[in-house]
Amino acid sequence: GVTDAPDFPVRVRPEVAALPPYKQGKQAGAEAFKLSSNENPFDPLPGVLGRVQAATALNRYPDATAARLRERLGERYGVGADGVHIGAGSVSILAQLVQATAGPGDEVMYAWRSFEAYPWLAVVAGANAVQVPLAAGARHDLDAMAAAVTDRTRAIIVCSPNNPTGPIVTQAEFDAFIAEVPSDILVILDEAYAEFVTDPDAVHGETVLASGAHPNVVVLRTFSKAYGLAGLRVGYAVGHPRILDAARSTAIPLSVTAFGEEAALASLEVEEELLERVGVIADRRDRLAAALREAGWDVPVAQGNFVWLPAGDETLAIAGAFEEAGLIVRPFAGDGIRISVGEEESVDKVLRIAASVVKDLP
Ligand code: PMP
Repeated sequence: GVTDAPDFPVRVRPEVAALPPYKQGKQAGAEAFKLSSNENPFDPLPGVLGRVQAATALNRYPDATAARLRERLGERYGVGADGVHIGAGSVSILAQLVQATAGPGDEVMYAWRSFEAYPWLAVVAGANAVQVPLAAGARHDLDAMAAAVTDRTRAIIVCSPNNPTGPIVTQAEFDAFIAEVPSDILVILDEAYAEFVTDPDAVHGETVLASGAHPNVVVLRTFSKAYGLAGLRVGYAVGHPRILDAARSTAIPLSVTAFGEEAALASLEVEEELLERVGVIADRRDRLAAALREAGWDVPVAQGNFVWLPAGDETLAIAGAFEEAGLIVRPFAGDGIRISVGEEESVDKVLRIAASVVKDLP
């Protein structure tokens, strides 16, 4: 880290100096499949690309609040434009919401293992991360999370489907949980992979919002995964205008680009076609997960656009075997490997390698 240099004079906050730099899923060479970042393998639809190319005002700042997109999403969720907040990816909004609610001495709670950004967000806000271990089947343990609430808890993140393990939280589980959580604690329902969910029992942000009973819940969605716009960075939050205003107050102004907003609007116009692709990915995922289980892997329920291989101590070695075969996957040392559901041709290849290494597991 920067502070290791003895002659470097600037004092960095020690907790920031101790943070490992953000590590992105590896880029793939021309011959490899990049299955490390839960991206959408399909190229953008012509209608979307055309609209981005037509947005040429490079010399102008974008509309600060992306009002057209907020209006459009507000209609969809029945909340009006004030009930929607747009960010440069939903990870930006996560950071804003944590900054807005939690500071030094406060607690930010989430399940673990979950999205790698959560611990980082807590540290950067100066808050304490409270990680509640996943239960059997790599599912959220919402009873344990409710029991872990203290008078310093300021924000709780619930990730459904859970990245990187795959299972959803059910609507019934979420309803019981939210009834337990004091209403002055922000609950962020991170549904980055919502569109890939096929389990009818899964929690839906729409259902939670429609009840109107829990203004402390904010639903997070993104255009990065199902809508295939990861490169343009557009995510959004739906919830009470007061909490969204607070998020906006911590945001770096003007980080959502006109291109991102335009592409998101265009995507909503061709949504049917995009959701057909999502259906293709979900089928591919189900096929992959079933075949992996048949090959001997204990793959948890997979409801996102990825599967989880619990490889334990063999994680790095097995990820290396995938990489040698031209499959870039995401290893979490000592725990497991997340593999995105990508191109059709990648599926057989993943299966072949996974089947050949499973025998090495203890
Ligand atoms: N939440 C979860 C659970 C994710 O997995 C991701 C992306 N990896 C995000 C949020 C952020 O996605 P984006 O910033 O691209 O919207």
